[in-house]
Amino acid sequence: MLALPRYSFGVGDRFAHEAEAQLAAFERLALEGVLVAPVWNKSNREHVLIGSQPASVREAADRAVAARKWPHPWFVDADHIRLDTVERFLEASNFFTIDVADSIGQPASDALVDNFVARHGELSTRLSISGIEEPLALSRSSLEGIVRTYLLAAKEAGTLYRHIAEKRGGVKFVTEVSMDETDAPQTPPELLVILALLADEQIPLDTIAPKFTGRFNKGVDYGGDLDQFEREFSDDIAVLAYASKQYGLPPSVKLSVHSGSDKFSLYPIIRRTLARTGAGVHLKTAGTTWLEELIGLAESGGDGLALAREIYAYAIGHVDELCGPYATVIDIDCGQLPAIEKVNRWSGSRLATAIRHVPTHPDYNANMRQLLHVSFKVAAQQGSRYTDLLKSNRAIVAEQVTENIYARHLCPLFLEKR
Ligand SMILES: [Zn+2]
Repeated sequence: MLALPRYSFGVGDRFAHEAEAQLAAFERLALEGVLVAPVWNKSNREHVLIGSQPASVREAADRAVAARKWPHPWFVDADHIRLDTVERFLEASNFFTIDVADSIGQPASDALVDNFVARHGELSTRLSISGIEEPLALSRSSLEGIVRTYLLAAKEAGTLYRHIAEKRGGVKFVTEVSMDETDAPQTPPELLVILALLADEQIPLDTIAPKFTGRFNKGVDYGGDLDQFEREFSDDIAVLAYASKQYGLPPSVKLSVHSGSDKFSLYPIIRRTLARTGAGVHLKTAGTTWLEELIGLAESGGDGLALAREIYAYAIGHVDELCGPYATVIDIDCGQLPAIEKVNRWSGSRLATAIRHVPTHPDYNANMRQLLHVSFKVAAQQGSRYTDLLKSNRAIVAEQVTENIYARHLCPLFLEKR
């Protein structure tokens, strides 16, 4: 039985060199008495940009788990896969994030909508849900509207789930459905309808990733109203608990927060809501570990620092090209990007401080951080020059990677302040 524990945390490792350093952070937290399962995630887009294969993620994770003798569950996530990209992930992954965002809003036929609404009359009555102050009250026409928007996406999730299950031939896996990469956030009543639709497809859902209100830009903090997020997150948890009973979804079904990394101001909110409700969570970060590699190389000076400067020089000359694929999830003020001549005069530590995510530090530069976050393919183009430097500076790089995940992510999310 492959069960996702109550707490799980997704990390990216773009160049497959840091799995052990990442795992060390989970180990430290386990020693503090909190078990969080590591999930190594990498999307098809990242594989394409870097030129890597899903098997490399699995092999790196396997090696790390064996080297550190990690005795707890761990997973490899085929992140944001679709029917046209799932194939090469089937063997290497045991966690599948089924992305149906492109089907949201494709209008379902009247017959399909009417059929669902007729079978789910309860959804347009006043529903009191434990944990939500006001009863939910969807009108018949707003229910129809939601069903029309999400029905084909749910059907596609069903098709993809069954395809994976068939190809895996009985080998268990974790199922996540993601709807976060779309324009409009899903409200708690919409989430309830979506869960009913997914239950109708008989998907044994482990996690669901809605789009939350607010900005989830890559590698930087949350942009939005914290009180509103807290209410929405808490209401979503209540909706999940209700739907799991009402529609027969697994009782352990939990929210997945696709954070885009480093939503530090949300962490205390998430922690206290989990403590209050007893719910679990999966929190996915993007590949900010690659920034820790860059920080480590800068700190190490010499050839490492030289390459870090070169990568920045290239990036600042190719902002549009690098940012294009991520345009909706980054906000870079180019006027705030330091000139390359200036950066070349900085020490390694000064460069590291500009990128390292310590928002209170006067030398931290969120624009530079975001640009470098999406510039990993520049490092990929360097091939073994980059990865050899990771190896020759292993200790200092690993220290950045472990410390970042442990102190800036896992502790604020999962450890009560003492
Ligand atoms: Zn996502």
